[in-house]
Amino acid sequence: MSGAGSGKGRPSRPRKPGVMNPMLVIISGPSGVGKDTIIAAMKERDHRREYHYVVTCTTRERRPGEIDGISYRFVSQKEFQDLRDADELLEANEVHGNWYGTPRDGVRQALSSGQHAILKIDVQGAEVVKSQVPTALLVFVVPPSMETLVEHLKARRTESAEQLEIRQRNAAIELARKDEYDYVVVNEEGHVDMTAERIEEIIAREEQNSARRLDTI
Ligand code: 5GP
Repeated sequence: MSGAGSGKGRPSRPRKPGVMNPMLVIISGPSGVGKDTIIAAMKERDHRREYHYVVTCTTRERRPGEIDGISYRFVSQKEFQDLRDADELLEANEVHGNWYGTPRDGVRQALSSGQHAILKIDVQGAEVVKSQVPTALLVFVVPPSMETLVEHLKARRTESAEQLEIRQRNAAIELARKDEYDYVVVNEEGHVDMTAERIEEIIAREEQNSARRLDTI
C-alpha cells in the first residue's frame, strides 16, 4: 500500500491516522433486524476515512446480488477449516446452519490504518470477540417488535421455510441477550437513517473514551 506523499522526488510520509482512537465496533442483532440496511446507510453517509467495514467469511450459498469479496468472502467448508487451522479467524461460529468467521487480518488492517473496524456479526461471534478483545464496542440492534422482525424476514424472501423458522426461533434467543451489550439501538420502521446516525454518535462518543484503547488483535 503506498502512503501519502509517495510521489516522485518527495519523501514518503507515514500514513496519517484517520481517527484518534481506532476501535473494534461490533454491530449485532437478530437476523432480519436490518443490519445490512443500516450498514448501507452508514456507507452512504460517507465515513470512508474513519470506518472500515470488515468483510467476513461464510460457507453459506451466495444469494442473488451478493458479490464475493464485498458482501462476504464465500468459501468452501474446506477453505473455512483451513483458515481456522491457520488461526486466521478471530472468531468462527455456526449461525443458522452455516459457518461464518471474522478474518483477523481484515480487523488488523483497518486498525493499523487508523480506522474503526466495523464488524456485523451474530451474538455468538460478538461474545467471542468481546472475550478476546475486551475493549471492543458492542452495539445491539433490536426491532421495534417481534412482529416487525418476522415480517421483514418473510418479506425478503431469501430463506426457505425451514431457514425462516430457524431464524425466527434464534431471534428470540438472541434478543434475550441484549443486556450483554454496551448500547441497544432500536431500528424504528422506516427510519434507518436515524439508526445509522445514532450508531455514528455512539462511535464518536466512545472514541473519546480512553478505556476503549486497543491492545493487539
Ligand atoms: P446472513 O446469512 O443473513 O448474511 O447472516 C446471518 C448472520 O450471520 C447475521 O446475523 C450476520 O450478522 C452474521 N455474520 C456475518 N458474518 C459473520 C461472522 O464473521 N461471524 C459471525 N459470528 N457472524 C457473522
